[in-house]
Amino acid sequence: MKKILLQLDTDDKTSVFDQIVAYDAGVDQVIAISGVNPKNVQAQVHGAMFTRGGKDLCNTAIFVGGSDVDLGQQVFYKACDTFFGPVRVSVMMDANGSNTTAAAAVRRITKGREISGKKAVVLAGTGPVGVKTAILLAKEGCEVSITSRTIQKAKNTCDHLKKDWGISVTPYESNSQEELASIMDGVEIVVAAGGAGLTLLTEDLWKRLPKLEVLADVNAVPPLGIEGSEVMDNGREREGKSFFGAIAIGNLKMKIHRRSIQTLFESNDQVLNLEQIYTISREY
Ligand code: NAP
Repeated sequence: MKKILLQLDTDDKTSVFDQIVAYDAGVDQVIAISGVNPKNVQAQVHGAMFTRGGKDLCNTAIFVGGSDVDLGQQVFYKACDTFFGPVRVSVMMDANGSNTTAAAAVRRITKGREISGKKAVVLAGTGPVGVKTAILLAKEGCEVSITSRTIQKAKNTCDHLKKDWGISVTPYESNSQEELASIMDGVEIVVAAGGAGLTLLTEDLWKRLPKLEVLADVNAVPPLGIEGSEVMDNGREREGKSFFGAIAIGNLKMKIHRRSIQTLFESNDQVLNLEQIYTISREY
């Protein structure tokens, strides 16, 4: 029986990236649907859950994608609510690649390193990848802060993290390296999670932070988020600090994404959101 992945995308056009990863993970057929929202998702989910019965249901699965992570999350929950009893198919949520990218970034940081109790800052941590990274760092026991260009946006993000995830994260406004210097005093881990092509931390500043041990950057588009780093850095040491660049993180993200898709087809009741995807990433 063919492995069919129903790709529910909240954007106007379905993601080519997500479709290629699905085929590379061994899916036989991707059915990609655009413009999916919580109001119209139920009919699509019914199409997936009522066509194959019993043990054959594990050959159909759902992937929720698109650039709007909040909307994707709502579609994901609505899809999960549509199932009943054993009449269900496996579902994965990775809107904007946020779950797999954050899992890869934190997995790189934790490799061979105990981070519980350490101070971590996610720069520009208000975007989808930054938010998920902050959650995982907090779950690993870090004392986490995020920065934003505006304190209100940082506070809103932290309120959301408290309400939806029960996690306490400290919000900061940062618009200059001077402001960042005081925010980062005593910080041991930093993740640059800003939009593409944004330098958030200068070489001059990170060299002046003696406690800083690990620097990770998810932005692969020059100029990089952390000045003086390289996209291929995979634990490379500079000034006694370890660096992880966007390609090293991205390579692991691809493995986690493919493995998560494969996991969907192992049974018909897999529910893969951030925490489950992070668990899968432990294999690497
Ligand atoms: P995003 O939402 O586009 O941006 C994250 C934050 O950056 C925004 O919330 C914003 O924070 C800040 N920002 C945006 N434009 C800015 C500007 N012009 N100047 C200063 N700050 C600005 O990012 P995302 O979708 O979460 O992705 C984060 C990064 O991960 C991106 O660079 C993306 O390319 C990369 N990515 C990497 C991989 C990988 O495998 N390596 C995979 C997916 C994504 P404030 O408004 O709060 O200041």
